[in-house]
Amino acid sequence: MSNASFAARVGVYPKAVRGPARRVKWVILAVCLSIYYLLPWLRWDRGQEQPSQAILLDLQNERFHFFNVTFWPQDIYFLTGALIMAAVGLFLVTSLFGRVWCGYSCPQTVWTDLFMLVERLIEGDRNEHMRRDRGPLTAGKAWRKVLKHSVWLGVAFWTGGAWIMYYVDAPTVTGEFWRGTASTPVYVFTALFTATTYLLAGWAREQVCTYMCPWPRFQAAMLDEQSLTVTYQAWRGEPRAHGKRLVADPVAGGNPAQAIVGDCVDCNACVNVCPTGIDIRDGIQLGCINCGLCVDACNDIMEKTHQKPWLITWDTLARQKAKALGQHGALRLLRPRTFIYAGALLLGLSVMGVGLAMRTSLELSIEHDRAPLFVRVQDGEIRNAYSVKIVNKTPYSVAFTLSVEGIPKGQLALAQEGVWRDYNLVLPVGSDTVAGFRVLVFGQPAPGTPAQQPLTFTLRNSVTGATTTYRSLFMSPGEGASK
Ligand code: SF4
Ligand code: SF4
Repeated sequence: MSNASFAARVGVYPKAVRGPARRVKWVILAVCLSIYYLLPWLRWDRGQEQPSQAILLDLQNERFHFFNVTFWPQDIYFLTGALIMAAVGLFLVTSLFGRVWCGYSCPQTVWTDLFMLVERLIEGDRNEHMRRDRGPLTAGKAWRKVLKHSVWLGVAFWTGGAWIMYYVDAPTVTGEFWRGTASTPVYVFTALFTATTYLLAGWAREQVCTYMCPWPRFQAAMLDEQSLTVTYQAWRGEPRAHGKRLVADPVAGGNPAQAIVGDCVDCNACVNVCPTGIDIRDGIQLGCINCGLCVDACNDIMEKTHQKPWLITWDTLARQKAKALGQHGALRLLRPRTFIYAGALLLGLSVMGVGLAMRTSLELSIEHDRAPLFVRVQDGEIRNAYSVKIVNKTPYSVAFTLSVEGIPKGQLALAQEGVWRDYNLVLPVGSDTVAGFRVLVFGQPAPGTPAQQPLTFTLRNSVTGATTTYRSLFMSPGEGASK
């Protein structure tokens, strides 16, 4: 019994095509893949105590190193902001140019293109490949399949391995991997990402764009009649028909508008090159990733049939409606929604830029001991104890100096060395480290002072001179403390 709800997948055998869109796609593919594979090998000097990889998401030590900036877990809002800005940027580009992200730089598109190139080199172009697939299993067919899948697996492994290098030092993990001394997660995740790349780019291909990816579903909210998309000019192409075209109909006095058939010669070249296997002549569809390969294919046919190019072109729906009525139609790329997206992007980037510029490399937090609140020592002196936490985000070890203001004769000491007191306490903290100290503050409140007095701690970086302060309280018995 057949199940009408589900249709078997129709294999897509995209034909090779030449043209400007294809060239742009090759260039973007080469740039994206070069960046992806080579970036982990880029070194960056952060000092002896720090990793020397330019981009490293060090999960073990909870740091994200991005060139000369190191993000800590408490900087997570920068990552959140970057993701939101990327989404807003995508909204802006989509509202202007349709799904160009999908057609040119989405990882699924880039790796599928690479896998298709391998396939074409080994199994031949569309017709040869289809003919062999429909035929019986021969030695020629078998070795091509084995070779293709081997190369695919090699590329997938290279891709999965490169992904791991963004999390652990690239030269180190490469050496460990081949010596068999890398950690188990390295092998597990390399295998996982290899399998994912092989399946998504080799087997699933256009199905990821059509069925799995959520982006095509909500991109409709960003598109309107003024967005540029790959469009078949039906008013010019229909009624489609095979055969030669009249450049001008002599019966009708040379008016091309009187020609009996449209410019589309129904050659299916646009369908044959489409990586998602759709027919652009059916109108805007979920499966169209706006790659423009059908534009290249059709322009080639137009040239061969001595007709004007751009039967399939990049245009807006509004302009196409106007052209169908014989009007010119204006291109309105700048409109309220593009201004809103651009404004939101600009604002978000500015806020993040200011936040990054004002980001301090030194943090201080202090907590007063809950019990006892104070201790009376000799000669009317009062002692309070505090837990001091210093975050040193610099790539250098620093000897910080801590001092207090707000209490007469305020001196400090480390709890474990309580005898040694001074007005300035030296606290060494290693590079890129959080250090905790128990600090005692000694003071002699004047008679009649309240039980709680404001106290300001000042922490100074002895190398750069940078300071930060923290407000706390100094507790005493209050009235009669000195009696
Ligand atoms: S490539 Fe151009 S002429 Fe050929 S079928 Fe497609 S739209 Fe028609
Ligand atoms: S219809 Fe054209 S633009 Fe759309 S995916 Fe196919 S080839 Fe690319």
